[in-house]
Amino acid sequence: MKRVRILIWMLGVLIWVSIFPAQGRDYRPDEIANPNIANRYEYVADPESRLSASTRREVNDRLQKLRDATSAEVAVAVVPSIGDYSIEDFSEKVFTRWGLGKKDNDNGVLLLISPDSRKVRIQTGYGTEGVLPDITCGQIIRETVIPNMRDDCLDCAVDEATAMISKIMTDPEYADELRSELSDNYTGLEEAPVSKEALMGFVYIAIAILWLYAGISYFLRRSKISKLKSTSQKATEWRSSLTTFGILSAFTLLTALPFYLLALYHYRKARYGDRKCDLCGGKMRLLKGNEALGSLTPSQQFEEKIGSVKYDVHKCEKCGNTEVTAFSVSGSKYTRCPHCGTRAYHFIGNRTLRQPTYHSEGEGISEYRCEYCGNQDNKGFRIPKKDMAAAMAAAAALGAATRRRGSGGFGGGFGGGFGGGFGGGRTGGGGASGGW
Ligand SMILES: [Zn+2]
Ligand SMILES: [Zn+2]
Repeated sequence: MKRVRILIWMLGVLIWVSIFPAQGRDYRPDEIANPNIANRYEYVADPESRLSASTRREVNDRLQKLRDATSAEVAVAVVPSIGDYSIEDFSEKVFTRWGLGKKDNDNGVLLLISPDSRKVRIQTGYGTEGVLPDITCGQIIRETVIPNMRDDCLDCAVDEATAMISKIMTDPEYADELRSELSDNYTGLEEAPVSKEALMGFVYIAIAILWLYAGISYFLRRSKISKLKSTSQKATEWRSSLTTFGILSAFTLLTALPFYLLALYHYRKARYGDRKCDLCGGKMRLLKGNEALGSLTPSQQFEEKIGSVKYDVHKCEKCGNTEVTAFSVSGSKYTRCPHCGTRAYHFIGNRTLRQPTYHSEGEGISEYRCEYCGNQDNKGFRIPKKDMAAAMAAAAALGAATRRRGSGGFGGGFGGGFGGGFGGGRTGGGGASGGW
């Protein structure tokens, strides 16, 4: 029986200790957790809840507005007792651990009050020293903190001090000085995942690989094309390679341009250079105008007319053999007709037969026609249901963006609960301290 009573008594002590572990004890800087990490709308660290809920809410609201307006990050720490630390050392350590202010201009401010140690400090970041010089920080402390703390009103001190800081910092004169180029989502909590050097290294390697690919592909093509008997085929093969080499040149910052130029040279030589008859070896001549058109089929003539295919016609002066080479024009809207094979087939337009609703799919047709044989095709397609989920998500996002954060309720899960953190700013030891 005695043992049980002792156990219960020990359990009671344990519960008491774990519920009120912090009461009145000395804190270390690393015990003062950054309040903005769990909730990006929280600017006050108050481990023993010395501030009233309403003051805390008001101060958070004020500092959020200040951050929205200026991008500056101002935070409050109420540390019951700082033990043997100096207030300067303590604040600087908390400021640095939290990374107050955006990394690019260090526009952070920390108001740290220790009621039991009877000390206060306003610590400024490098970028806020101009707006809140030490002398101004001293003035804020003397006017708002010390008198209120002497009256034992911590709420009044924090409320008035943050109000005065906010008033000075929102002075339009200082707007440019405080403004960070970094977005508010930039937390500075972690280093960029890839360094600039590593990224450049990756880019160089990618370019080198593409260049190598261009080179190998050029030599493989050359050996393949040189085996072709027909000069026409050589011309069309080289021509079709130009797109590939053009793209490779662009992606290798033009270092693969020589391969493009070589391919262009081969193409032009095959197409416009002297040509020998495949049958008798006699000299061939490139026909022009009507003479050339006369050697084409009506379908080819039509393609030439609408500009979907360019035809070269060579005629042997010795045996009269003619050779027709087709070069399809890239960028032409016409494709090969499935009915007659003429490159005169094209898309006319889409027609909606039935509109989609939130409950059912819609229907439509795409119309195609061949300008040569006149054949027309309709290809049916489905129009997906109107997306209820997407519409709702858009509305919710809009709501979250426009809604001012209230405390609790819906805010926890959707918009308000997004973790934050400050921007990784640094302090150069600026600010002022005081005691009462
Ligand atoms: Zn010939
Ligand atoms: Zn056709």
